[in-house]
Amino acid sequence: MIDFSLSEEQRQLRDLAHEFAAKEIYARAVEHDRTGEFPTEILRKAWEVGLMNTHVPSEYGGLGLGVLEGCLLAEEIGWGCTGIGTAMEANGLAEAPIIVAGTEEQKKRWLTPMTQEFKLASYCVTEPDAGSDVASIKTQAKKAGDEYVVSGEKMWITGASHADWYFVLAYTDPAKKHRGMSAFIVPRESQGVEVGKKETNLGQHASDTRAVRFSEVRVPAANRLGNEGDGFKIAMAAFDHTRPVVSAAAVGLARHAMEHAVQYSQERVAFAVPIARHQAISFMIADMAKDVEAARLLVWLSAWTIDQGRRNTLQAAYAKAFAADTAMRVALDAVQIFGGYGYSTEYPVEKLMRDAKVFQIYEGTSQIQRLIIAKEIFERS
Ligand SMILES: Cc1cc2nc3c(=O)[nH]c(=O)nc-3n(C[C@H](O)[C@H](O)[C@H](O)COP(=O)(O)OP(=O)(O)OC[C@H]3O[C@@H](n4cnc5c(N)ncnc54)[C@H](O)[C@@H]3O)c2cc1C
Repeated sequence: MIDFSLSEEQRQLRDLAHEFAAKEIYARAVEHDRTGEFPTEILRKAWEVGLMNTHVPSEYGGLGLGVLEGCLLAEEIGWGCTGIGTAMEANGLAEAPIIVAGTEEQKKRWLTPMTQEFKLASYCVTEPDAGSDVASIKTQAKKAGDEYVVSGEKMWITGASHADWYFVLAYTDPAKKHRGMSAFIVPRESQGVEVGKKETNLGQHASDTRAVRFSEVRVPAANRLGNEGDGFKIAMAAFDHTRPVVSAAAVGLARHAMEHAVQYSQERVAFAVPIARHQAISFMIADMAKDVEAARLLVWLSAWTIDQGRRNTLQAAYAKAFAADTAMRVALDAVQIFGGYGYSTEYPVEKLMRDAKVFQIYEGTSQIQRLIIAKEIFERS
């Protein structure tokens, strides 16, 4: 039996997130977009009302929510502002590898404090010369007694200057390519950690993106997640949990762009009728509605699959590719529907168009999602 209805608890959670998104996020989104100021106070409030670290298991002080619940929250927060949402979601991405592969001890050490105090963390995989091609990273972790010495440079790290600790992927045996990578938790205050300047990005200005340099940083062997050589697997497994959530944020953005387009097209008159009465406009809106709905269904499918304890790599790639492309297309069409006003910063849709683009880039580009889908298809046939 298929049932698409949400439970009472899920509806309440979604409503709480929507109320928070409307009052605390959307109300200040334009200001953060303009100034680029990191939304610390909004994130702190989100933490206080329980909208952060929601997937941390209850044994470690979290709510232990499923990926589907995470998606319900992310859609509403993404509706509010995906820049602020990305700043919030950095914790989810950094924590996922620990949830997936951490020992009891490591979960207590790194996850529990996140639920007791307002803290942030970052996920450090990408490097200046290696993004999609993760096997080309150069960061190395060399064993030295019961420590590792980590050296290398990470790039495009969300939340880097506010993080208390970093999830870091590094080679322990470069000759083995991706089977020679290991994963570490590196505290921010470690000697040799240097955070770069804030990048000036096209959109999502509230989020903080920076390079992080690790210069001979000594990390206790106890901070290694899994065995030596497990790093790539762990970093990728984390995406199975986070890609549905990121995709849900893209759905939230697309939904809001559509809402603006629906309202504006009924108010704006051209050739003596509201532009919504011109079929070219109403069909654009019909396409927005069907794609938002389809994207949400793929998001829910990918979340439901992993919540059932099944592998969802394929479904998460469907969701990420479709939701990211939908967000971009819907936001672009919303600008078109607003005409000249769509091009102005006085109106809301140009921000959505700028914010949407990164969904096709981070957490695996839209091309990489298609590579994953194709690989799964051909491996099965
Ligand atoms: C705002 C922002 C925040 C980010 N946050 C983080 C973070 O917190 N942590 C982190 O580790 N990373 C983060 N990233 C990095 C992001 O994940 C990478 O930018 C992304 O994976 C792409 O890597 P790249 O930029 O090196 O592009 P490249 O890998 O160089 O790709 C360039 C282009 O080539 C295409 N391409 C590459 N390989 C193939 C192929 N085999 N087939 C077809 N096309 C291909 C890509 O799709 C893309 O269009 C962030 C990026 C941005 C912009």
